Amino acid sequence: MNNDIEISVRSPAAYALAGEALRLMQDHGVWPTPLNYELWLYVAGDPECPLAQEIHRLVAAGETITEDVSESLASKFIARMKLNDEVRDAGLKLTRELASITEVIVDAQKTQKTYSETLAGAKKSMSDVDTLALKGLIDSLTEATNTVLDHHTVLEGRLTESSREVNRLRKHLDQVRMEAMTDALTNLANRKSFDEALDAHCEGDDVTKPLTLAVIDIDHFKRFNDTWGHQTGDQVLRYVASVLARIGRPPRLAARYGGEEFGLLFPGETCDNVERLLNEARTEIASRVLKRRSTNEDLGTVTISAGVAQREYGEDSFDLLDRADKALYLSKNNGRNKVTVAEDINKTDSNAA
Ligand code: GH3
Ligand code: MG
Ligand code: MG
Repeated sequence: MNNDIEISVRSPAAYALAGEALRLMQDHGVWPTPLNYELWLYVAGDPECPLAQEIHRLVAAGETITEDVSESLASKFIARMKLNDEVRDAGLKLTRELASITEVIVDAQKTQKTYSETLAGAKKSMSDVDTLALKGLIDSLTEATNTVLDHHTVLEGRLTESSREVNRLRKHLDQVRMEAMTDALTNLANRKSFDEALDAHCEGDDVTKPLTLAVIDIDHFKRFNDTWGHQTGDQVLRYVASVLARIGRPPRLAARYGGEEFGLLFPGETCDNVERLLNEARTEIASRVLKRRSTNEDLGTVTISAGVAQREYGEDSFDLLDRADKALYLSKNNGRNKVTVAEDINKTDSNAA
């Protein structure tokens, strides 16, 4: 959803889209605040997106879209905003911590300089020694040493504290980065991390290592949602994701590509192997009779369709994805609940359900 909007707002249709967002806000009695504008831009861009469906559901239930409701919709559906805040906060704290470490180090350098100067002075005075002067010298050396020791103790404490804080922030940043790459509903990788991994794998021209890509789409999912509701639909998405996660363990990658679509990457594997694995997953999903958790009500079954493509020599990620998409389209057109391999495009009935 994000990517599509990012492209649409920089296209000739952008002003019409902005106008539609304003019109929708006015129709729904919503103020055109920056937050609402972003929310309704998504709705105008894709009236079927989960955010739009949630708004329709709220409106149909007679709810008013108050500022609080908008805030909660934004935090649920536009996770990017929340993540940006967290990254910014963590970044600020890290900067502050680094500034404090620098201060400590500069301080320590100053103390060390004074100590060195004291020692240099002592060395000079050693040449014309008399007992009284020697005693005074030793006293002043002892005092200088004690001052340095005190400073080092303070320094050590502050450094320990700072390094603890830096470690904590680093862990938090790792977690935030992880969240930014993960789909919140299914816990699979999200589209961003999938695209990055796919691009990285398509960069080289290593013919000795095959790469196979699969795109998977739940069949007639709109019908399922319309019959059983969006929340039950979400549970089915999680179930399908869990099956795909099992076959997509590292070094493979399983991702939610958007809505009810998934992407799987199989580095080092050929399409024959992937076709077999996906047919197993497809059969497993189709044979499971789904139950509503709360009532144990029978929800019937869902099926998935898939398109598989093995990367050809020098092929870029766009073309590879396009071939897999076309194979998926064939699976849909040939009755769904099928896996089609791009290279095998003419013999699509080999794996009928
Ligand atoms: P097809 O077999 O051709 O793929 O039909 P379909 O109904 O699955 O495809 P379509 O693209 O018409 O509809 C996709 C539906 O997926 C629309 C929406 O209700 C549902 N959907 C998308 N994202 C979510 C989500 O996050 N949660 C739920 N519950 N449903 C979603
Ligand atoms: Mg789809
Ligand atoms: Mg579908």
